[in-house]
Amino acid sequence: MLKDLFSKPKKKKYAAIPSETAKQDVPEGIMTKCPECRKIMYTKDLQKNLKVCLHCDHHMRMTAYERVESLLDGGSFVAFDEKIASANPLGFPGYLEKLEKDKVNTNLDEAVLTGTGSINGLNVVIAIMDSHFRMGSMGSVVGEKIARAIEEAAKLEVPFLIFTASGGARMQEGVLSLMQMAKTSAALKMFSDKGGLIISFMTHPTTGGVSASFASLGDYNFAEPKALIGFAGRRVIEQTIREELPDDFQTAEFLLEHGQLDAVIHRKDIKEKLTIVLEIHQQEGELVW
Ligand SMILES: [Zn+2]
Repeated sequence: MLKDLFSKPKKKKYAAIPSETAKQDVPEGIMTKCPECRKIMYTKDLQKNLKVCLHCDHHMRMTAYERVESLLDGGSFVAFDEKIASANPLGFPGYLEKLEKDKVNTNLDEAVLTGTGSINGLNVVIAIMDSHFRMGSMGSVVGEKIARAIEEAAKLEVPFLIFTASGGARMQEGVLSLMQMAKTSAALKMFSDKGGLIISFMTHPTTGGVSASFASLGDYNFAEPKALIGFAGRRVIEQTIREELPDDFQTAEFLLEHGQLDAVIHRKDIKEKLTIVLEIHQQEGELVW
């Protein structure tokens, strides 16, 4: 018993959200260091490989525009609602300044980019969350843009495709953030009742209120390899249930094994697999228009 007192506590592996901009001790722009294996590679080569590490296959975070480029047919993307901006409804100190900073850094007005485009000639309405903007958190503008995009998909009679990446609800907007869960879920239900096809693609990380609403409501729920997907954080759950969780808890692979995902798809295969799914539903005619 005494020896337990002096034994080192067991090291736990927590699934952390890595910051790719921090601790980059390599020349910025020319070389990039993989946050997973710490190996250095040419940024140009990394970009060509869709931001997947050339050494360990780690899928690094993509910006919304990089996703558009990797997925949609050249020149087909037309953005919706680009000018909707967040107010500061709760008067949260420093919130508007933080938004302004992220706008400059990401060239986005909010944490989600929505619009229409085509994948190998198949039209979709697409929403892409960008975790570089306020950690992809869901405020009232994110919810509103997603709900509007779903309504647009219904009008255009095309499938709705969403790529999620989010730390959860946006704390600076309090309960207004939480209301977005109900709004987006209701919009998806109406779209689904009309026969619309919903494809959700979860990327690292998809957590909190986003994982508990639209991210999990696809007719197909896909994810990228090793993406962190969950509602409450690992530590919170462990302290609540007083049990140690497996190392791979809340990874895409764990969720696939336990039936919460339909497939885990490597980034280089996403376009091809989505084309197959979209083609199948176009031929059936009933599920999608
Ligand atoms: Zn790596």
